[in-house]
Amino acid sequence: MKRILNYIDGELVPPVGGAFLPNVEPATGTPYSEVPDSDGRDVELATSAAEAAFPSWSRTSAAERSRLLLRVADLIEAKREALARAESVDTGKPIRVARSLDIPRSAVNFRFFATAILHFHSESHATDHKAINYTLRRARGIAGLISPWNLPLYLLSWKIAPALAAGNTAVAKPSEITPMTAFLLSEICREAGLPRGVLNIVHGTGPKVGSAITAHPKISTISFTGGTRTGAEIAITCAPMFKKVALELGGKNPSIIFADAPLDEVVPTSVHASFDNQGQLCLSGSRIFVERSAFHPFVERFVKATRALKLGDPLEEETDHGALVSRAQIDKVATYLDQARSDGGRILCGGRTPQGLPERCREGFFVEPTIITGLPVDSRVNQEEIFGPVVTVTPFDTEDEVVTFANSTPYGLTGSLWTHNLPRAHRMAEKIHSGTLWINCWMLRDLRVPFGGMKNSGVGREGGVEALRFFTEPRNICVQFPIDQPAGGSK
Ligand code: NAD
Repeated sequence: MKRILNYIDGELVPPVGGAFLPNVEPATGTPYSEVPDSDGRDVELATSAAEAAFPSWSRTSAAERSRLLLRVADLIEAKREALARAESVDTGKPIRVARSLDIPRSAVNFRFFATAILHFHSESHATDHKAINYTLRRARGIAGLISPWNLPLYLLSWKIAPALAAGNTAVAKPSEITPMTAFLLSEICREAGLPRGVLNIVHGTGPKVGSAITAHPKISTISFTGGTRTGAEIAITCAPMFKKVALELGGKNPSIIFADAPLDEVVPTSVHASFDNQGQLCLSGSRIFVERSAFHPFVERFVKATRALKLGDPLEEETDHGALVSRAQIDKVATYLDQARSDGGRILCGGRTPQGLPERCREGFFVEPTIITGLPVDSRVNQEEIFGPVVTVTPFDTEDEVVTFANSTPYGLTGSLWTHNLPRAHRMAEKIHSGTLWINCWMLRDLRVPFGGMKNSGVGREGGVEALRFFTEPRNICVQFPIDQPAGGSK
């Protein structure tokens, strides 16, 4: 069975304690590789390597850092097929999605920040005629980068690329549930010639490896993407150590559809927003609100389009909907479906284990895409993040009412709004509490824009210049102008 190894000080090494955990293929429900069950000792080694590498890496020219990161991007692109297959096997997502979204975007992340750093600049402020203040931005040191399982290489590279581009060294931890492409990335970094210790990847669980990273006194910057509860634990650890922390957390995103929006566009996009990646996207629109006059036509067409999704083996080319990531995740979905039934919800489609799966997938973690109506807006299913292929559809009557519905959860990550009434779109955009609002689209990403959540969806922003600012320390240098010489003064 293939053994994943840690990447520390430029070498691929087993964990100090010698223990490994089984890594399960979600489509089959069986282990297919082993992942290091590392602990604080491995984090210590990784941190020492990152500390030793920092003086040289942070003084390496931006052009040279850029060259190396572009080489990583090139290698990801060259190995796209192998990486896509690995991501599909590890996560249960359709290979088509890994090939068209996860892996290309991972290469783009490296390319984007490798070039962004060449244009990164800081400010200066002239203080009347007395002084000039300039802002010196330098890398902060060692960054701790922790990522979740839903977009493994995509989200890990979204942190590694800006951290390294800005001159930091890093100790990164992918999810223990989906470690394979991070391991393949460590091989790529070796091939690209990344200097030893600049990037270290320690595999293992949150309680053993993640918490050792967040508590390490020499790791002064923490960038985390994952669940809100984990984010709160990390905040408790980091706050008294005065670490710089960015937390990208959960969501319960509203999709708001007004009757003037063309259903021909709204329905297919709503199917993507609801069920892409088996609904395991922090950006998924899991609460759909439809203006009452369009409610029935929308529901009818939405159910029909959802039923047309092809469920099956993620490695089959034509599969639209693969497996959920773990048994824990399908159990969680099942609990919420029971809750929906007992709260009086009507399951219009899905809600069961799909029939007719190929033989090799019989023990896999599959759930049909599920649409529910008739649930109160304040019910648990409408308030809590499920992170699976489950959406609710609820009618609304007025703008004010749907704004209240949209803002009623503790989350505020993204939202989408469908209307051709421009004044209304701008009016609503002001009122909806979300870090991102898409109008007449969904998941249209420009990597330059600030990305992050409001309320329990997180603190801080990733993306573009925000990420480079996060990974650098701004310092003010104030230089007084030479005092004017008095007229006729000494030479
Ligand atoms: P999770 O919080 O369980 O785990 C995320 C990572 O944190 C994993 O690597 C895990 O091992 C680690 N971890 C767990 N406990 C830790 C601890 N005490 N200290 C340090 N690290 C710890 O989340 P998950 O189940 O892997 O991912 C799903 C969640 O991620 C969902 O809530 C989803 O909304 C969120 N997410 C958010 C975004 C975003 O951009 N806001 C993007 C993707 C996923």
